[in-house]
Amino acid sequence: MPEPTFASRVRGCLLGGAVGDALGAPIEFASLDQIVAAHGIDGPSDLGEAFGVAGAITDDTQMTMFTVEGMLRALVRHDAMGICFPVGVVHHAYLRWLHTQGERSEHPLFAPEEFDGWLIELDALHARRAPGESCLSALRKAAIGTKEAPINDGKGCGGVMRVAPLGFLAVDPFGFACEVAALTHGHPTGWLAAGFFAGLIGEVATGRPLGPAIVAARAALLREEGHEETLAAVDRAIEHADLAPPLPESLPRLGEGWVAEEALALTLFCALAAEGFEDGVRLAVTHGGDSDSTGAMTGALLGALLGEEAIPARWIEAVELGDAISALADDVVETLRGRGTEALSWDRYPGW
Ligand SMILES: [Mg+2]
Repeated sequence: MPEPTFASRVRGCLLGGAVGDALGAPIEFASLDQIVAAHGIDGPSDLGEAFGVAGAITDDTQMTMFTVEGMLRALVRHDAMGICFPVGVVHHAYLRWLHTQGERSEHPLFAPEEFDGWLIELDALHARRAPGESCLSALRKAAIGTKEAPINDGKGCGGVMRVAPLGFLAVDPFGFACEVAALTHGHPTGWLAAGFFAGLIGEVATGRPLGPAIVAARAALLREEGHEETLAAVDRAIEHADLAPPLPESLPRLGEGWVAEEALALTLFCALAAEGFEDGVRLAVTHGGDSDSTGAMTGALLGALLGEEAIPARWIEAVELGDAISALADDVVETLRGRGTEALSWDRYPGW
């Protein structure tokens, strides 16, 4: 296959994450035995129904979409005004996500009557899809979580599962994703796993193969304080990929994916072991743990690595909000190509 274009990698990352999320959604709370009984040892081959909706995405993709919207607004604001605090703009995007979940925040900028942008206009995004408690409770607070002033001690996978596109959008994907994840997850592993993952996507975005990209992200991780737990999970995944067969029975040794370092390890193993996009994502959801999150992360990574063309067309056609996710991906490409040329309007991404 020819090397994917930059646009294909961006679209592959966003659409790949969404279809992986949707493939895992119906089996998030199923055991491995139940999954194998229903789908066989290779896992589900088509997007099923979850939350009463065919091809349903979950909170992972919903929050990823708001991460992207926030980052695009930050870039528009920076280009228009020359000043910007990007993490604050992404936090504001998460307040809009919180509003879609029917919740309120004590934060002074939580003002639903003033919320704008095109994402909150999408009725389908106002559905609750088992949102994580750490994300909800952190965003309800008046304070903003930072690495230095942790909002909680959470290290659930809610920080790492939403940051993949920052690999394309941030100047320093590793560092910025750490700050974005720390908005809701205060444990170092909760945000360092996110930094590693966005850093890895950033390496892949430049055309680096997966192995060298992991080496580079690992080197960045080593420089951070408190990296031991995340590093151990990364190394376990690399070693395991050398020794264990790419089968569901190999996954439990890396955990269940409910916490950040396990979701990261499962993603790395499945991506390293995969023969292609479909193969890797089906493996990533075929376990008794957090199938939609590991599916979303593996899909985002393999999509960025292999490009949109590697994703089964039947999955892209079936995924909920596929057109909106596709439009968002195109806006990312256009914005990055046209920095400073008003490629995106303030109307679509009001820089706030
Ligand atoms: Mg989910």
